[in-house]
Amino acid sequence: MSEAAQPWDGARIRDLRASLLAFFDEHQREMPWRETSDPYRIWVSEVMLQQTRVETVVPYYRRWMERFPTVRTLAEASTDEVLRHWQGLGYYSRARNLHKAARELQAHYDGALPTSAAELKQLPGIGDYTAGAVASIAFGKAEPAVDGNVRRVLARLLDEPSPTAGELRRWASALVDPERPGDFNQAFMELGSVVCVPRSPRCRSCPVGEYCRARRAGTQEERPAPKTRKPNPRIVEVVLVLRRGEDRNCEVFLRRRPADGLLGGMWECPSREANEGPDSGSELWKAQVRRALQGLLNEIGTGSDGVDDLGDPRALTSVDHTFSHRRVHYHPFEVAVRPGRILRPPEGSEGYCRWVPLRDRTRVPLPVAQEAILRDLELRLAAGASLS
Ligand code: SF4
Repeated sequence: MSEAAQPWDGARIRDLRASLLAFFDEHQREMPWRETSDPYRIWVSEVMLQQTRVETVVPYYRRWMERFPTVRTLAEASTDEVLRHWQGLGYYSRARNLHKAARELQAHYDGALPTSAAELKQLPGIGDYTAGAVASIAFGKAEPAVDGNVRRVLARLLDEPSPTAGELRRWASALVDPERPGDFNQAFMELGSVVCVPRSPRCRSCPVGEYCRARRAGTQEERPAPKTRKPNPRIVEVVLVLRRGEDRNCEVFLRRRPADGLLGGMWECPSREANEGPDSGSELWKAQVRRALQGLLNEIGTGSDGVDDLGDPRALTSVDHTFSHRRVHYHPFEVAVRPGRILRPPEGSEGYCRWVPLRDRTRVPLPVAQEAILRDLELRLAAGASLS
């Protein structure tokens, strides 16, 4: 931390803390996790809130706590059930890590969270931010917790365009209130959410405006400097919607994605990447689709049955989905299995391949785009619409 970046002495720091805590005492928003001191609940809320808005998190949090009210209930749940309760919240590694960590806590800590940030960081999925937030809010430890909101407020208070993670952590450590560290960290985040917002910060009603260098310099809109990000690549995937049965009582073939990686552990209609030609209606594109579908049939081990045996692939409505680092354009194709054909999943594949009644798909965790594809199929079947 440079000399120039240390604008406050001890007395000013105490005043700044008092101003921020007074703001929090008066203006904090009601949130279900602010009504508890249970470290498990605070931990779950902090994980859910990463990259996700408060309004989105609240109903998920309530449902989660109804089903998994303790570390033990979470540890004993199946992966499918955990992912299903996370379905739609995105960044599914968060749910998988919560589950893994709960199992470790149950096995080694009798279901209780450790109280120090250093120990918390030993658990899967807990980094500096979550450890600091849980240690300060649940256990009253004077630890910093730097999330995106705090980063923005600090960069403005100190008028620094590109503070490093180390600098931010040092500044936040110097500021955190030793008497009320949890409230202080939440106050900082709250300030970033409702006052020191990314565009047009409300400096006139800011409780710490008198300490703010960027406000004095008129540079608040430029702090922190925007990160240069490469545009997300666009990927095209062909999706095999394999159906057996004639109406909405039909079954669809699902397989589970590998445990790690994007959407790890979720179920889906098998898909694979394709190169989209300039014209999606071209013969070249159709040939590519058939190759991709045949490849998927081979992958899922349905024997020698090919697409030609099974009937014509028919296009369903395409779906776009944006992940944190890529945009995916899904081209789903429905392939109906002819009556009399069974197409058993390969032997020993029960854990990762199965036929699921279309109506019962809510019993397995499905990515948002896959649910959209299957809902489209269900509506078409219900309407008796032509699928061509
Ligand atoms: S004065 Fe303005 S820029 Fe500075 S911390 Fe407050 S809201 Fe943010």
